[in-house]
Amino acid sequence: MACRVGIGYDSHRFAAGRKLILGGVEIPGEIGLDGHSDADAICHALTDAILGAAGLGDIGEMFPDTDPANRGRDSLEMLAAAVEKVGRAGHAISQVDVTVIAERPKLSRYRSQIRSRLGPVLRIDPENVSVKGKSNEGMGWIGRGEGLACIAVATLEGNR
Ligand code: MG
Repeated sequence: MACRVGIGYDSHRFAAGRKLILGGVEIPGEIGLDGHSDADAICHALTDAILGAAGLGDIGEMFPDTDPANRGRDSLEMLAAAVEKVGRAGHAISQVDVTVIAERPKLSRYRSQIRSRLGPVLRIDPENVSVKGKSNEGMGWIGRGEGLACIAVATLEGNR
């Protein structure tokens, strides 16, 4: 069985009057994330990680932000479409690992909810969905609370 690894990165700016959705889970609070879609940085980084592992391009190619159809789009749906695409190419996801870098919110309370939400979309057991939170120790744009970043790694098994 061939094993392939992909990495994905995403960032979004915090914005008032927007929802904060991470890994398909709405996190209550006074601040949300700005973006063309629902700004779910976990889903976006994961989508790039699995497309990258399969060598099938990136999220911007699959869902251009110039297309009005992608405005406010559910990022779980985009992730599911990428999973479908890599599946058709003969790959299955083994596991994923996500780190969200933000001063707030603290993600630990939502970790198990996010894992349960993402498992079925990725077609893997939630045990194989790792979600971690990190602060940026107050440094730079993340430290100033301007936004958050997310890094994701995915491994695929397949016949090519
Ligand atoms: Mg994004």
